[in-house]
Amino acid sequence: MKFNTHIQNLPIYEAGKPIELVVREFGINPKNIIKLASNENPLGTSKSVIKTLQKVAKNASLYPDDSFYELKDALANLYSVKSENIVIGSGSDQIIEFALHAKTSDKNAILVSGTTFAMYEIYAKHTGAKVYKTQSKEHDLNEFRKTYNEHKNEIKVIFLCIPNNPLGDCLDASEVMKFISEVDKDTLVIIDGAYMEFAKFKDKKKAINPKDLISKFPNALYLGTFSKAYGLGGMRVGYGVGNSELITALHKLRAPFNITTLSLAAAIAAIKDKDFIKKTLKNNLKEMKVYEKFATKNGIKFIPSYTNFITFIFDETKNATQISDNLLKKGIILRNLKSYGLNAIRITIGKPEQNKRVLGELKKEI
Ligand SMILES: *Cc1c(COP(=O)(O)O)cnc(C)c1O
Repeated sequence: MKFNTHIQNLPIYEAGKPIELVVREFGINPKNIIKLASNENPLGTSKSVIKTLQKVAKNASLYPDDSFYELKDALANLYSVKSENIVIGSGSDQIIEFALHAKTSDKNAILVSGTTFAMYEIYAKHTGAKVYKTQSKEHDLNEFRKTYNEHKNEIKVIFLCIPNNPLGDCLDASEVMKFISEVDKDTLVIIDGAYMEFAKFKDKKKAINPKDLISKFPNALYLGTFSKAYGLGGMRVGYGVGNSELITALHKLRAPFNITTLSLAAAIAAIKDKDFIKKTLKNNLKEMKVYEKFATKNGIKFIPSYTNFITFIFDETKNATQISDNLLKKGIILRNLKSYGLNAIRITIGKPEQNKRVLGELKKEI
């Protein structure tokens, strides 16, 4: 069968391996498996969210409130914006998809950093758009400027992943704002803040305020997710914050009821549990240092990370695929970054006892 030509050469996104696969393939007891491959919250889901889920389970037969009134209201309060500035998606992934379908086609292009979240490219290619990448793997705004100016008529969307998955690098908020001010008003600049909670906690200079962003720039879209700091990866809830005209355009692409009744309730409850977020951020910052120390001591290269993961970049004497395969057999699931063209592994920062075991096993492999 022939498919849409845009789809034919499309790369397939390689997601982190699930626990079930390791149980099936290696017969390991799920209790002994450590999964630090997908940047999920190692503390799990907040107790108050679990309680809420138990309460609303009986409503699973009902569609959710399609206006997502209460969730938008909670997010509007969180960011001091209006509900009309918010769109809800099945993960912020879906908002990326909406934004690209709204702006790109096979006659134009997007611009991304050399190594960044793979879904930008994949969704752009759905629409046939070309993908320009900066030479630098990490975000370098001068390179963004250069490539943008060379292909100004073509580039309709620029992605800034702040902080950046899978490398952990993070631009300062002030340089981001300056950059957007130089971009043409018809070019959409997407700030993917999937890990912004972690960056902000570590360093105030990294904090991008969505209200500031969208009041200054009608062509900016801020993305947030409940999958990382909020501990709701399995619930699939993300959001976009933008100028109301932009948000109205994105809503046109949204299918009704695009998150579930349970997801909706979970996200609303998660925003309220500030203690859980605080605990999450504190554990992350403290345990990040354990990984940094290990890397320094063992001569492993890493980029200081503003996220809930650290990426260890190996020299040619080591093989990231072999290392991650060996660890997998022991029930430790990490993210091999081979599909990003890197001899590196990305490790989600876990709980202290998990990190200890991971580093103990890793030490034997290097
Ligand atoms: C995890 C992640 C997302 C979105 O995840 P969802 O689960 O779809 O909300 C978006 N961007 C980056 C960079 C991510 O790492």
